[in-house]
Amino acid sequence: MNLIDGKAIAQRINEETRAAIAELKSRGITPGLAVVVVGDDPASHAYVKSKEKTSLDLGMHSVKRDMPATTTQEELLAVVRALNADPAVHGILVQSPPPKHIDERAVVDAIDPRKDVDGFHPINVAKVAMGDASAFVPCTPLGCQRLLIESGIETSGANVVVLGRSMIVGKPMAFLLMNKGRGGDATVTVAHSRTRNLAEVCRGADILIAAIGQPEFVKADMVKEGAVVIDVGINRVADPTSAKGSKLVGDVAFAEVAPKCRAITPVPGGVGPMTIAMLMHNTVLAARRIGISPK
Ligand code: NDP
Repeated sequence: MNLIDGKAIAQRINEETRAAIAELKSRGITPGLAVVVVGDDPASHAYVKSKEKTSLDLGMHSVKRDMPATTTQEELLAVVRALNADPAVHGILVQSPPPKHIDERAVVDAIDPRKDVDGFHPINVAKVAMGDASAFVPCTPLGCQRLLIESGIETSGANVVVLGRSMIVGKPMAFLLMNKGRGGDATVTVAHSRTRNLAEVCRGADILIAAIGQPEFVKADMVKEGAVVIDVGINRVADPTSAKGSKLVGDVAFAEVAPKCRAITPVPGGVGPMTIAMLMHNTVLAARRIGISPK
């Protein structure tokens, strides 16, 4: 079994991004990332903090808008519009999930598609489906594809099963893998909660990508001998043996599945760091494309 070290691969990519930022700065363009968070969800604040920290560490201009849970839809839209108009900001993301009274769809639709570094705007969703190279691709599936490429895992002609059909992970993942070209050309099956004979479907996979949000759901009998497994899941579960009283596990029962695999990602240290690395990569792309920055 080969452990796919997402942390090490993400660090390497971040170094490439750091160099790209330095080069852009030498031409008078400082890539800028704006992160908006609404409410007090602790996981959202942790994600936003690490995105802010990484962007600053790599030399970007970083903007954080921390808004109270009582923020109205109109106030949030006004912040998004201001960021759209700010020439020092090239990438905008609004951390999900917002409080219940906010219409998340309307907020994403309000982001300038040229600054939509999360890749959730309908224009970018359509471009990903079309295989258009100018798309901003959602960071988590882009990171999974990059992990496969960097680990020398051939996707062309492979049977891939994507477990989960969300707009954030499952669906864009399936498009990336079925599109033509490097890291694509796979035969893709998308499975979800209504899939019949799920274990059998998963056993058909040369590459299994699990993104369902169910702790340690994928067991050894669902995985073919010699398969590659990418575990997107991040689930906090009780752990009386740890000081915190809890720990993070993936959607895959790592201990029993890993011995069967040709390669597998750990949780934590697999897909998670790649998601942030791809966000930084997308922000540099946006800065190159938009190109103006007074900083
Ligand atoms: P969603 O809840 O939006 O989607 C879950 C998907 O899994 C749905 O399509 C659902 O099916 C399917 N599903 C749920 N339970 C089962 C089941 N028992 N059998 C088969 N399919 C099932 O989750 P996300 O896509 O947003 O996230 C998935 C996981 O990835 C989570 O653990 C999340 O924390 C993690 N994640 C990690 C990231 C990272 O950076 N590493 C980034 C984003 C997410 P249906 O549509 O039928 O309901």
